[in-house]
Amino acid sequence: MVWSADWIALRPDAMSVWRDPDVRRRLNWYMRVMLKEVPAKFMMVRKFPVDLDGSEDPWSLETSELWRIHERSAADFRRMWRRVKEGSEEYRDLSVSKAKSLLAVKTVLAHRLASPCILCERRCRVERRKGRIGACRLDYGVYVHSAFLHYGEEAPLVPSGTIFYGGCNFTCVFCQNHDISQDSPREGLKVDPVKLADIQDALARRGARNINHVGGDPTPNLHIIMESLLYVESHIPQLWNSNFYMSSEAMELLVDVIDIWLPDFKYGNDKCAFRLSAVKNYVEVVTRNLKMAAENGDMIIRHLVLPNHLECCTRPVLEIITRELPVDKILVNVMGQYTPMHRVARNPRLWPEIARSLTVSEIREARSYASRLGIRWEPVS
Ligand code: SF4
Repeated sequence: MVWSADWIALRPDAMSVWRDPDVRRRLNWYMRVMLKEVPAKFMMVRKFPVDLDGSEDPWSLETSELWRIHERSAADFRRMWRRVKEGSEEYRDLSVSKAKSLLAVKTVLAHRLASPCILCERRCRVERRKGRIGACRLDYGVYVHSAFLHYGEEAPLVPSGTIFYGGCNFTCVFCQNHDISQDSPREGLKVDPVKLADIQDALARRGARNINHVGGDPTPNLHIIMESLLYVESHIPQLWNSNFYMSSEAMELLVDVIDIWLPDFKYGNDKCAFRLSAVKNYVEVVTRNLKMAAENGDMIIRHLVLPNHLECCTRPVLEIITRELPVDKILVNVMGQYTPMHRVARNPRLWPEIARSLTVSEIREARSYASRLGIRWEPVS
């Protein structure tokens, strides 16, 4: 890692946050990967052998057969990863060929999930390979709109090697990145897996503490992201910065390659989720994915407090986190920076309750409720 005086001056808290033993405990896996004490998970998965039932090439196998192989090997991998994480086992480099690794199987499955597409719980089933466009406004391509060292993320993540992908499976009426998520998602740089790996390596060389896959949303781009990990050379934590509406199949693939999760948990009920982001069954899907992610990596949850949504969204979100997740092992960013943008800014009369910024008393109330529930938010909010 490059300890540059420039960025330490810009964000001194990015250094001081690590003096807090509780932060070091909650983000212990991420910290150890960042310090190169253990390999990033994608590097372990890339060297984890699979038995391809006599075949040499996972691309030649049926999807159902691949899922059977994946289920077997991923269970073994997760047991091994937990032992390494808990310190009861040293990581051993098994050095299999990339083509016969668990990551190779995941890559083929990710491509199969992408067309007909069920990468997210919209389950459009569109043939993206044939150029059809899903609800995320994407074809089979992956479009990078920017990639840079981000200094505005949570202190433990800065500087974050952030890659902004075009396209999103949500249509949030207040989206601050609507230009790339909703308006012109396919106008970025179209990348293949090798090019995407090069971008990640370049960010790592410039001193990124992690590779932050965001958008839009990274989920519709999972097939190329997964394949890129076959080629990334840098030892660097992988971070998934998402609305967390992935399908359960996509989650099965992801959980073994992500070191730290940065999920949004926006809404405390399905009615608000549908009205403001046009997604169904929001609470159940996001809660399911959060539980799975929390078992397989470190986590900083983001909750953007919306004006006039404290009772219907903020309180239930914080309560679900306390009830369903290991609250003593995660951090929550209770975010107070909401400001009306995109469609809300253009048509405030359609969404009157969120057509203003948050008040100081609203964010105070949200954070004080989080504290009362035993949620740790201070180091990242
Ligand atoms: S990722 Fe896109 S195409 Fe695939 S199911 Fe979701 S919205 Fe549809």
